[in-house]
Amino acid sequence: NSSLHEVDPDVAAAVDAELHRQQSTLEMIASENFAPVAALEAQGSVLTNKYAEGYPGRRYYGGCEHVDVVERIARDRIKALFGAEAANVQPHSGASANAAAMFALLSPGDTIMGLDLAHGGHLTHGMKLNFSGKLYNVVAYRVDEQTSLVDMDEVARLAREHRPRMIIAGWSAYPRQLDFAAFRQVADEVGALLMVDMAHFAGLVAAGLHPNPVPYADVVTTTTHKTLGGPRGGVILSTKEHAKKINSAVFPGQQGGPLEHVIAAKAVSFKIAASDEFQERQRRTKEGARLLAERLTQPDAVDAGVSVLSGGTDVHLVLVDLRHSQLDGQQAEDRLHEVGITVNRNAVPNDPRPPMVTSGLRIGTPALATRGFTAEDFTEVADIIAEALKPDFDETVSKGLAARVAALVAKHPLYPDLSK
Ligand code: PLP
Repeated sequence: NSSLHEVDPDVAAAVDAELHRQQSTLEMIASENFAPVAALEAQGSVLTNKYAEGYPGRRYYGGCEHVDVVERIARDRIKALFGAEAANVQPHSGASANAAAMFALLSPGDTIMGLDLAHGGHLTHGMKLNFSGKLYNVVAYRVDEQTSLVDMDEVARLAREHRPRMIIAGWSAYPRQLDFAAFRQVADEVGALLMVDMAHFAGLVAAGLHPNPVPYADVVTTTTHKTLGGPRGGVILSTKEHAKKINSAVFPGQQGGPLEHVIAAKAVSFKIAASDEFQERQRRTKEGARLLAERLTQPDAVDAGVSVLSGGTDVHLVLVDLRHSQLDGQQAEDRLHEVGITVNRNAVPNDPRPPMVTSGLRIGTPALATRGFTAEDFTEVADIIAEALKPDFDETVSKGLAARVAALVAKHPLYPDLSK
């Protein structure tokens, strides 16, 4: 029973190196965040040893009295956070939450409508190689070519034509807020179920900075590790009507034993998500994204062929459009990496470049907001990014920008107590 460093120095070294990477760079992948130390502690606890197939009070294993407490707390907290009638906190990930919700409410061959992957949707919303694309008949809706926005008239037209059993609203790369009432109206008109995947924006919803889909949807899925800021994992919220089917789709339908150590960490993060500090952090998250969009629409950025899809953002991310830039998505990602900023390249709708190259970047602010970045810091980050995307980028510019990144890193230490 010795420490990780003693038992396995190879793995320990990689973990230390990853901690150092997170501490010494600016994490701007829109789907990432930093889990609180209390959640890391819960996730690293002895709860990992416990089998608990079933649900609190109805387990298939003995000795579940303490994990029952944990799972009940997690369920109650997330129901309260979003005003949901029922919650299942067992899905191991966002993808498995979606799979279980669809497995519960659909039959193979049913028609589903989801946002096209290339237009900002997620794999699980009907991509052809994903279970969702293989099991169901997929009708994808797309964003409008001019506005880059989801066009509800087009959604309604497709729904009337194809009569889907389920409409999925939600996204992985979209800079605006969806109109859940309008989605509900279309679903009702054609007799479809409405599923909202709020994985990306759940933290904003919890903070009251984004409309809550729960009152409109039959089922709402989310991850717990993006804006919500907890451990990696998934959750399914639903009306009472669908709860039983969803529970049996998760277990025994798709999973065996739940990860009670992760559920404990989820519970911790749901408690934090109800706090004033969390709300203030989500406000900085949104403000940071807004400042970034504003900077990347200034004349010098426009001259460099840079623009921002939809002209701005009202969430936690910005989609940079490089279709008119010499720089492709891969090169832009590499440049930012060189100066110490981690982002991911991302296809833009109707992208002329291949999917491994792309003409876009997805840049998010949740992790830096968790780190304590203020509007002033985000203004500096935005300027560093704008400078890095200009044609005159060379080694001297790169070094100067890396020094500015290092100053921000030093100003906001991350996980100081975890450093050896
Ligand atoms: N749903 C959406 C909208 C996502 O963006 C993601 C992840 O990026 C997922 C689901 C899947 O989450 P996970 O990676 O935990 O399976």
